[in-house]
Amino acid sequence: MKPLEDPRGKYPKPPFERQFQPFPGLAHKMNPVPDHGEETYVGTVRLKGRKALITGGDSGIGRAAAIAYAREGADVVINFLPEEQSDADQVLELIEKAGQKGFGIPGDLRDESFCKELVEQAVKKLGGLDILINNAGHQKTNESILDISTEAFDRTMKTNIYAPFWIIKAALPHLKPGSSIIGLSSVQAYDPSEDLYDYAQTKAATTSYVKSLAKQLGPKGIRVNGVAPGPVWTALEISGGQTQENIEVFGEDTAFGRPGQPAELASIFVQLADNTGSFATGQIYGSAGGSGQP
Ligand code: NAD
Ligand code: MG
Repeated sequence: MKPLEDPRGKYPKPPFERQFQPFPGLAHKMNPVPDHGEETYVGTVRLKGRKALITGGDSGIGRAAAIAYAREGADVVINFLPEEQSDADQVLELIEKAGQKGFGIPGDLRDESFCKELVEQAVKKLGGLDILINNAGHQKTNESILDISTEAFDRTMKTNIYAPFWIIKAALPHLKPGSSIIGLSSVQAYDPSEDLYDYAQTKAATTSYVKSLAKQLGPKGIRVNGVAPGPVWTALEISGGQTQENIEVFGEDTAFGRPGQPAELASIFVQLADNTGSFATGQIYGSAGGSGQP
């Protein structure tokens, strides 16, 4: 029998120690280190034989999905930035430990030719592709719109909007009926913070592209869904995604008085890719600790 777990006391609560790492930040250097399911996620065979590409699979939510996918029987390619190799190595080791093939392909998704190359490499390494998670994202707080340079705005747009566009276009010819595409939206799509002017609009755009593409690809048998997390304890938040004042109280305003951990979202990604989720398309799955959806 599985004991009941009280969600309130399951994970660390604020106050958190103020901490800053230069972008993109490393999960294994955070305090506390996030839970990506390393010790806890138990798989069955829900994704046996699947081939998945996960961008930003080195840390945070993408890493939790990568670990869960491997334990469910999928082979996984993760993409990440070169600075994140040490986080990525930990994930690749866990994928191998689960008895699956894991491949790391570092590179910057703001580059269209790299996005194409990433998909081609992933298809070659995996021998095909049937799950794509466009998870990589960039978030940087700015008190005023006047503080956002064109270059900074461009980084957010390229990473969060252009990269999924380029990657999906490259992946589509390889996706057979039954395949799944998953995008990362956010509570920011519905209730944007005043200091996330650029980031918030990319998450609204993600919600929109998921719903549009679901209608376009449904007749081809390809499902497209999104996940909209609330505050989750990840490297994105401590590398400029939140102010230091907010890090201290991060997640305090949820129903459980704490942030989510990446591991708490992993099963959503499994469900969305699994054959049993076959009627779900164009849906946005929230996991925000009590608020966040319209
Ligand atoms: P994270 O920092 O652990 O993961 C984000 C990843 O994006 C990084 O590991 C990095 O590899 C990748 N990335 C960023 N810029 C890149 C670039 N130019 N090229 C290649 N890779 C790049 O943080 P996370 O919170 O797990 O973020 C994952 C997704 O979840 C993001 O899309 C984020 O917007 C979304 N999200 C997070 C939260 C949260 O509270 N943490 C809430 C809502 C949505
Ligand atoms: Mg990372």
